[in-house]
Amino acid sequence: GNGAHAQALVIGTGYGGSVAALRLAQAGVSVEMVEMGMAWDTPGSDGKIFCTLTNPDNRSYWLRTKTKAPVNFFLGFPIDKAISKYTGVLDAEEFSGITVYQGRGIGGGSLVNGGMAVTPKRENFAGILPSINADEMYNVYYPRANAALGAAVIDPNWFNNTAWYQFARVGRKQAGRSGFPFVFVPDVYDWNYMQQEDAGTVPKSALAQELMYGNNYGKKSLQKTYIPAALATGKVNISPLHKVTSVSPAPGGGYTVLMDQLDTSGNVVTSKQVTADKVFFAAGSVGTSKLLVRLRDTGQLPNLNGQVGQGWGDNGNIMVGRANQIWDPTGSKQATIPCGGIDNWTAGGAFAEVAPLPTGIETWASLYLSITNNQHRAQFTWNNTTQQVDLSWQQAWKQDGITMAKSIFDRINSTEGTIYRTDLFGVYKTWNDTLTYHPLGGAVINRATDNYGRLAGYQGLYVIDGALIPGNTTVNPFVTITALAERNIENIIANGG
Ligand code: FAD
Repeated sequence: GNGAHAQALVIGTGYGGSVAALRLAQAGVSVEMVEMGMAWDTPGSDGKIFCTLTNPDNRSYWLRTKTKAPVNFFLGFPIDKAISKYTGVLDAEEFSGITVYQGRGIGGGSLVNGGMAVTPKRENFAGILPSINADEMYNVYYPRANAALGAAVIDPNWFNNTAWYQFARVGRKQAGRSGFPFVFVPDVYDWNYMQQEDAGTVPKSALAQELMYGNNYGKKSLQKTYIPAALATGKVNISPLHKVTSVSPAPGGGYTVLMDQLDTSGNVVTSKQVTADKVFFAAGSVGTSKLLVRLRDTGQLPNLNGQVGQGWGDNGNIMVGRANQIWDPTGSKQATIPCGGIDNWTAGGAFAEVAPLPTGIETWASLYLSITNNQHRAQFTWNNTTQQVDLSWQQAWKQDGITMAKSIFDRINSTEGTIYRTDLFGVYKTWNDTLTYHPLGGAVINRATDNYGRLAGYQGLYVIDGALIPGNTTVNPFVTITALAERNIENIIANGG
């Protein structure tokens, strides 16, 4: 409530925030978590908490009047539709050169993501987080994160036989025929639950086109892992529909935190002021960077250093579809949970997830989300005219990622005698070069902070989310975000500061 005092206040309830809350509470610290999105614990009139990919309603998007689907065309026709403005679960946040997709609600990105829980290859780690001891990460913190998240690989026997993964078997076969390794990757979806969905004994979610706009049953989002564990300590309170707007040093020590309480149309209901001894920025790469850049440049936190706002990357995201031959259908049945990818990182700088396109009809399309080694980095800056934070990413920078992805898909097309789909992202548009699902950086570890996330310039302020990672993780990022948060919070609890 207004005027309250917290020992620790955590801004955001995604991976970094949930790890921080659980470990602080276990160490005896009382924690207030503040989340701008909804709680996502109450079913709508259809009995479901979340809507499906193919029938999106107001629950799908954060404060938009029209959906903004990443695959937004089909056979050259636009498929986005009008929705009413609501604090929905997926934010398609638009900057001048890129749209950044993010989760909104208790659980952050874990509510909307595909659940691919990928640990980077050990030999790539020095390129991801050069200042971090790799032995500690691979011996202690990656295993700790994977266990707490519940990551597991699909049963290969079931994979080989079920209609729901025909699309991925086509992807594997074609990768192999062109000499690329296909690898199974863990996911946090409950694979046993999925087999029960297939058997018809439980309500369906992955097998019922639930993707991107939340998952009602089988996915182990943070709402099923870290967050209930944190709440079970009795030391954590979460306030949904509260957006932090300011953090500044309090006269008597600690920090004054301002926040707006929102209604489900996004209007400010009331503003509140609380104090906290320590504040953890866990608003995601974009949310944390926007807050810190504005607070530094408008005078609330002037001692933050010049690295704040820098080093932002898109994890090299590039999306493309291929048109298969008539004898290679990808299936009218498609599970929404990815389970494997093509690993060409070392040779070509790309790791390509074989992605589902669960439309309910046969499309003969293979869809891929590639993570490429795109080296471009953007920065966030405060724009005094618009009173907004800008991001300097340029759409043309995606060309490097396209070139890397082509090293895989040009060869597969040539082996298979196939072509790219040009009807999925616009009219005659092959590459989706306008978005990222994996924003990373903006308050990079060992530059904007010390080597554990303590913000330079202020005692008791920390960054503990994807903003710490300098732009690329070579694979999908949330396991690395979680493991790094586990490492950092352990040091902060042990050593303070
Ligand atoms: P987030 O999870 O983004 O959490 C930040 C939270 O802070 C959010 O809940 C937000 O609402 C809240 N917040 C922001 N600003 C404020 C504020 N001012 N006040 C209060 N609260 C605030 N990654 C993978 O590893 N595997 C995948 O399969 C995968 N698939 C994805 C699919 C999609 C469609 C998307 C969008 C992302 C996907 N990701 C995937 C990426 C992954 O979800 C993110 O990397 C991850 O969630 C980032 O974690 P975080 O802790 O940095 O922040």
